[in-house]
Amino acid sequence: MKKLEVQLQDLRKKGEEILEQIDQRNSRKKIQCSSCEKYHAIGRLAVIQTHWYEKPYGCTGGDNWYEGELQYVCPTNNVRNRLLFNNHDVPWQERDKFENNPEAQFKRSYKKLFGDVIDEYDEKGSSSWVNNLYVDKNRKKFGLVEKKKEEK
Ligand SMILES: [Zn+2]
Repeated sequence: MKKLEVQLQDLRKKGEEILEQIDQRNSRKKIQCSSCEKYHAIGRLAVIQTHWYEKPYGCTGGDNWYEGELQYVCPTNNVRNRLLFNNHDVPWQERDKFENNPEAQFKRSYKKLFGDVIDEYDEKGSSSWVNNLYVDKNRKKFGLVEKKKEEK
């Protein structure tokens, strides 16, 4: 019987290998494009992390940048896809909690898996864009919290 410390080390190493395999599998998952209608693998897209600015208010409020939605530019036709989520099935006080927030879950597990992550602080004048709700509509495929009830 190996020493407990050695057993633990082996298990952690095994765990890291499995996490790596999960990431590799996830990076091959595909998003259906709202502009060209083809499926693009996450690992082959560049993702844009948008930011929005809150102006100063009061004495100490605001004057801060916040992360906004993720977007990608379709490699086929250059149209910007906004990756949007709708969790209006959750009461608004509960929406920001991680366990209810499919967008936060998607960002945590998938953002790092895109081929490139571009931080954008001012909206580049992209001539055309579309809303893309594919990930939201296929939450199970991406291992995200599922909708509590069907949208009407
Ligand atoms: Zn496309």
